[in-house]
Amino acid sequence: MKILLPTSTAGSLPKPSWLAQPETLWSPWKLQGEELIEGKQDALRLCLQDQQQAGIDIVSDGEQTRQHFVTTFIEHLSGVDFEKREIVKIRNRYDASVPTVVGAVSRQKPVFVEDAKFLRQQTKQPIKWALPGPMTMIDTLYDSHYKSREKLAWEFAKILNQEARELEAAGVDIIQFDEPAFNVFFDEVNDWGIAALERAIEGLNCETAVHICYGYGIKANTDWKKTLGSEWRQYEEIFPKLQTSNIDIISLECQNSRVPMDLIELIRGKKVMVGAIDVATNTIETPEEVASTLRKALQFVDADKLYPSTNCGMTPLSRRVARGKLNALSAGAEIVRRELSAK
Ligand SMILES: [Zn+2]
Repeated sequence: MKILLPTSTAGSLPKPSWLAQPETLWSPWKLQGEELIEGKQDALRLCLQDQQQAGIDIVSDGEQTRQHFVTTFIEHLSGVDFEKREIVKIRNRYDASVPTVVGAVSRQKPVFVEDAKFLRQQTKQPIKWALPGPMTMIDTLYDSHYKSREKLAWEFAKILNQEARELEAAGVDIIQFDEPAFNVFFDEVNDWGIAALERAIEGLNCETAVHICYGYGIKANTDWKKTLGSEWRQYEEIFPKLQTSNIDIISLECQNSRVPMDLIELIRGKKVMVGAIDVATNTIETPEEVASTLRKALQFVDADKLYPSTNCGMTPLSRRVARGKLNALSAGAEIVRRELSAK
């Protein structure tokens, strides 16, 4: 990246109220058929414009074409029955009714490639595309076929690799895998989770990222955070192995979180997307608050490897709040950029 401290978002941005119910996860679409396809593209353009007006350097589709960051990808695969549902615990945290893996999973056709091409046509800026990670995918399903979390994750990794290669060919600069499950299942992450992720990025020439957060600002997550104590040291369990992995960028939750910033030292050498925007509050950060978080991170990340970002996706927020946070991110990064260039 030519610019110092290039800004981006972790993923989703709010959808317009004419497309989906605002401030809601898994919100049903308000349009159908051709109107829905056109509506999603219009929303993508608006969302891109919001990022550009705020001065965000690495832009995304804001996940305007998907209902949910994991489910929408899985819906496009065969081998998963969405009618057959079982109750499971998501990330050891909350019960949810989930679809069942009933046979071999496979991708019959590309999932997001047309959307990525559409985004590519709209801008010459670097673009980042998010996909769910293999471990987070298996954690949202009931598996009655493979009966092995590792085996299913491996199959998903192969599918993700097919999709990722096509996204790269469509002109995506950074492919990001969302792995909030990495913050929960430490033994599995070290045993096979990171290996599965490396399988998903095999053969890619574009940059790759893994996003590991403490989740959207929904109640189940904020309640869980209250049980984590005064210091959140989850990253410590997985950073040593991630440091030696082939992943280029690691995206983390840092704003208003109790993650000790010095844990980032454990991934020294990697590029780090530092979450400097809290997505669990409607309070808009001041540029100075953003700058302060970035300054702290600079103690443990070389300036040319620091990518200011958001803690997580902003889909549950209002568009007004999300725009305010994008502006704050951009202005906060600019403060630190000026300080660095004055040195
Ligand atoms: Zn997240």
